[in-house]
Amino acid sequence: MSDHIMNTYGRLPVNFVRGEGCNLYDEQDQRYLDALTGIAVCGLGHAHPAVTQAICDQAAALVHTSNLYGIPNQAALADKLCQLSAMDAVFFANSGAEANEAAIKIARRFGHEKNIDIPTIIVANKSFHGRTLSTLSATGNTKVQAGFAPLVAGFMHVDYNNMDAIKQACDNNNNIVAIMVEPIQGEGGLVTPTDNYLQEIRQLCDKKNYLMILDEIQTGVCRTGKWFAGQHSGVTPDIMTLAKGLGNGFPIGACIAKGKAAEILIPGTHGSTFGGNPLACAAALATIKTMEEEELDKRALELGDYFQQGFKKSLAELIQRNIIIDIRGKGLMIGIELDRPCTELVKQALDNKLLINVTADSVVRLLPALITINAEADEIISIVSKLIHEFVNT
Ligand SMILES: *Cc1c(COP(=O)(O)O)cnc(C)c1O
Repeated sequence: MSDHIMNTYGRLPVNFVRGEGCNLYDEQDQRYLDALTGIAVCGLGHAHPAVTQAICDQAAALVHTSNLYGIPNQAALADKLCQLSAMDAVFFANSGAEANEAAIKIARRFGHEKNIDIPTIIVANKSFHGRTLSTLSATGNTKVQAGFAPLVAGFMHVDYNNMDAIKQACDNNNNIVAIMVEPIQGEGGLVTPTDNYLQEIRQLCDKKNYLMILDEIQTGVCRTGKWFAGQHSGVTPDIMTLAKGLGNGFPIGACIAKGKAAEILIPGTHGSTFGGNPLACAAALATIKTMEEEELDKRALELGDYFQQGFKKSLAELIQRNIIIDIRGKGLMIGIELDRPCTELVKQALDNKLLINVTADSVVRLLPALITINAEADEIISIVSKLIHEFVNT
């Protein structure tokens, strides 16, 4: 590894050079089973032939022009995303944080159009919205913010899953313009919404004329067993952001808006040189087409249940002893919460040729590919269960 890479990541001691489906191969051609998919990015697994073909064909034809001209792939992708989400208009960016930047800018301009001079967005504690200055300011985690003051103003943090806290924050505050949450908090420890939480946010936003913003950067694109996780609650937001799973590894972000929110940005108010370029949109179109053809939303839901049942069985004794506090998630966003910090499990899994992640210190997080077959799921369940048993019994 190079000394010339900025030290922003604590990296595991492995270099992957090749992938196929749920498998990654290191420089010695040793096989690893990937139950993390680059943090919910490669939903179709690695080197999916349809995405590879689309990238190669588009690269040979045209990589980049400019948003100064029409981009047919971008138009087709916008149409498709609006059809899937029942929303109206898309701004394309290159990452999740950038998609959220666009969402935040829309909310602020929406406020100014209502003569609100200091537009304020309600966000959640333990949320994660990105690493740029405004998105880290929106993020509900002081570790992400440490050292970067002064933070961007205009965010108000309240506890997730607490509707009273939101209502209290809105009372007597005429500056609120939007409520922004993740439909499942990924980095915050796989916190799922309580019954009706998202519906109640939707109702409040309708009543008060706020924008409801769902950060679906991790949950979107079939990951949780629906195209978008808000659909589990029957909720359509005013703004939804996507990124991770959208291009199966090719960088792309999208800020999708509906109704009044879709009309706010006009020429001169926002832009991106690379956003929505022909190559990125080709990768995303191929990703979506494959997911639709193979009905991977349904498969993710079914496979998620298979994982949860498998873990509940293989970890039954530790659940009984309250060492496993909870097994939760939706679809292929799976969390196993332990009663203790367990970040060591990541390295132990790597030693067993399995890629997993631990979030919020004590939650084992699995984000397997949507194309995972049951035999691979069995292997993941068996290794993770064995490692957790060893970990808590030593
Ligand atoms: C990963 C993530 C982001 C940031 O995406 P980047 O592409 O890393 O900028 C924002 N929100 C959520 C919920 C995420 O999981």
